[in-house]
Amino acid sequence: MLSSADAMKVTIFSSKPYDEQFLNAWNTGSAHELVFIENRLKPSTAALAEGSLAVCAFVNDVLDAETLKKLAGHGVRFIVLRCAGFNNLDLVAATALGLKVARVPAYSPFAVAEHAVALLLCLNRHIHKAYNRVRDGNFSLDGLMGHDVSGKTVGVIGTGIIGSIFARIITGFGCEVLAYDVRPNPDCEKIGVRYVPLDELLARSHALSLHCPLLPQTHHLIDEKTIALMRDGVYIVNTSRGALIDAEAAIAGIKSGRIGGLALDVYEEESELFFEDLSVSIIQDDVFMRLTTFPNVLVTGHQAFFTHEALANIAQTTLSNLTDFEMGRDCPNAVRSK
Ligand code: NAD
Repeated sequence: MLSSADAMKVTIFSSKPYDEQFLNAWNTGSAHELVFIENRLKPSTAALAEGSLAVCAFVNDVLDAETLKKLAGHGVRFIVLRCAGFNNLDLVAATALGLKVARVPAYSPFAVAEHAVALLLCLNRHIHKAYNRVRDGNFSLDGLMGHDVSGKTVGVIGTGIIGSIFARIITGFGCEVLAYDVRPNPDCEKIGVRYVPLDELLARSHALSLHCPLLPQTHHLIDEKTIALMRDGVYIVNTSRGALIDAEAAIAGIKSGRIGGLALDVYEEESELFFEDLSVSIIQDDVFMRLTTFPNVLVTGHQAFFTHEALANIAQTTLSNLTDFEMGRDCPNAVRSK
């Protein structure tokens, strides 16, 4: 344990002005010495954490075995993720190196679930196109026809914290909600959500929303084979992790009409793109650029979590995780290998 006189130095990677604003605001009495750096964490930037006992990382930071080994070599003992997912971290390597890891398991599940609903509604009613048309003085309705959401079947894949809130909201629209999860959630069953095998969910749903984590079992869950099982014109919304969808298979599905609309807040190769202003750069990712050319594809840059409430919770929990580690206390948000 450290003496209370020494504020623990924490290097915060991939830092944006809003991270600095919220973490500083919640760092009561400057309990921790927070060093904000814009660089993404990866093997070549790990040395920037020299002299820090802790590192704070975000979704697109690289926490593979090589980076973790370098961090440990620079004296880092604690890793706190200011996000829920930890698929970007090699937990086996972290454990072997004696690094303690914590995350923010739930900061505002409402933020993500509400964004998924917003994407679905926007896609269905072509709000993204209407916005531009009206600004251009074009009030034609051609091509803007949507469907009533009420009465449609919506499939939810993964009904944990976020998926169950999404299911509850969408139930309020008068939809039949089907779900697939390896561990059904009794709270969802209570509101009438029906668990069915994945194939049945895919075959019956007019719209799908993905809320399961990225695991080897869920990698490219949406691929050529599963797209072939879906209804013609299905809408797919992904606010979970990009690699749940094989983007090239999705492009083929859009071209064939099997996929009627695709809304993505996450993208498999997003780490080279998202959270940065690339408006004057030449984007090299041809798959991503192809996706953005379709009128029925809507992309937001991993902003589903981005609400005032979520950022406040992320800051609060991250700092409390750091204090738990520093004081040698049991951390309720610790991530351990099974
Ligand atoms: P959670 O752990 O509460 O729920 C995940 C659910 O998926 C669980 O019920 C689990 O049983 C289920 N699941 C696990 N393996 C599965 C499989 N093979 N098939 C089907 N279901 C499976 O997680 P959560 O807090 O609801 O978050 C869901 C995902 O949302 C996270 O994994 C994260 O990647 C993503 N997320 C995205 C944003 C964003 O800003 N876009 C923000 C937060 C979280």
